[in-house]
Amino acid sequence: MKKDVVVLNCGSSSVKFAIIDATSGEAQMTGLAESLGNQDASVTVKYKGEKQKIALSENAMHAEALEEISRIIAKTGVEPVAVGHRVVHGGEKFKQAVQIDESVEQAIQECAAMAPLHNPANLTGILTAKTAYPSLPHVAVFDTAFFQSMPQHAYLYALPRALYRDHAIRRYGFHGTSHKYILDTTASELNKSVDETTIISAHLGNGCSVTAVVKGKAVDTSLGFTPLEGLVMGTRCGDIDPSLPTVLQQKLGKNAEEINKLLNTESGLLGISELSNDCRALEEAAEQGHEGAIIALEIFCYRLAKYIGGYMVATPDLDAIVFTGGIGENSSLIREKTLGYFSHLGVKLDADKNLDKRFGAQGEITAADSPIACWVIPTNEEWVIAQQAAQFA
Ligand code: ADP
Repeated sequence: MKKDVVVLNCGSSSVKFAIIDATSGEAQMTGLAESLGNQDASVTVKYKGEKQKIALSENAMHAEALEEISRIIAKTGVEPVAVGHRVVHGGEKFKQAVQIDESVEQAIQECAAMAPLHNPANLTGILTAKTAYPSLPHVAVFDTAFFQSMPQHAYLYALPRALYRDHAIRRYGFHGTSHKYILDTTASELNKSVDETTIISAHLGNGCSVTAVVKGKAVDTSLGFTPLEGLVMGTRCGDIDPSLPTVLQQKLGKNAEEINKLLNTESGLLGISELSNDCRALEEAAEQGHEGAIIALEIFCYRLAKYIGGYMVATPDLDAIVFTGGIGENSSLIREKTLGYFSHLGVKLDADKNLDKRFGAQGEITAADSPIACWVIPTNEEWVIAQQAAQFA
């Protein structure tokens, strides 16, 4: 039976929205309200193959955008059964999706200290969407919830324990809905139940993370207290020597906030290449011999391989290594370079299959006799949010 869910992802100046059938995953409509708070605030909608851009009033904010979005949805005749909200940080409180009431709103607010750029915007989205859809269940789906199964030895930092007790400083993980989708889809591709499936999934987009899942439960992940830890990302540095921020403050005469910005927005692929944060652009430049692009891609793949290799200690009876996200789904080069580090373990890529798996194609990319199977599975975070929200309809 069809169960249409409105899926919302509210940022500080944007609202990404979709109507997803929770049963089939089909997206009936997708759209984006952007430049909220600016002169050129607008909503762009894709529906039945047609794209339409609607101007909002000058400096329009979330309330006007959501009013317009609900008007657009109403015109289609679709009757949604629930609204699913992406919420970035659920702390330790939320281990799964929940129907939103005042206490949930308050808890999301309390977690805002750990995700100051995201949770307040997510909450604004929730409050305004409740006005637009007062009679539907509103459900919060947390990026962090999937990782609440991690054992203490994976989530505690080697810092004084009091920092965990008193300030909740620990590793949380992000991209949970994507890793959950990859787990469910891999299980179904391998004809196994989710709780029998063990994978290492690599979500490689502008943000990047690797997750180890044992028998359907996340046991480790590379993003930590914030989405800065772990892999090299588009503009984020990932792992560095923890003393560097202090050294950089002294050397550059910058304050803590400026150094934080440098690590989050001027580093990663962009920082190393001195060219771009965009993997595709770097691949093109590397082909032309651009030295910065070549070394940026090299570091990206080596760090990724180190994480995947590290997670092999946590994943006995590994069923598959799975690539997803814009880079994971499209870059046969990054997959080839990364998996090249495992050739001495026998991992054997099938070059044709690897080249085929681009632009939305799904399937295995390793040879039949490879001891570890590797897959490409395009992610679908909106579908996970729709499925979880529909449970409350
Ligand atoms: P976000 O994390 O913002 O959702 P995406 O998952 O869309 O980002 O991933 C964006 C990244 O995917 C960019 O680095 C982009 O260059 C890369 N990408 C997209 N298509 C290709 C391609 N054909 N080859 C290499 N990289 C690609």
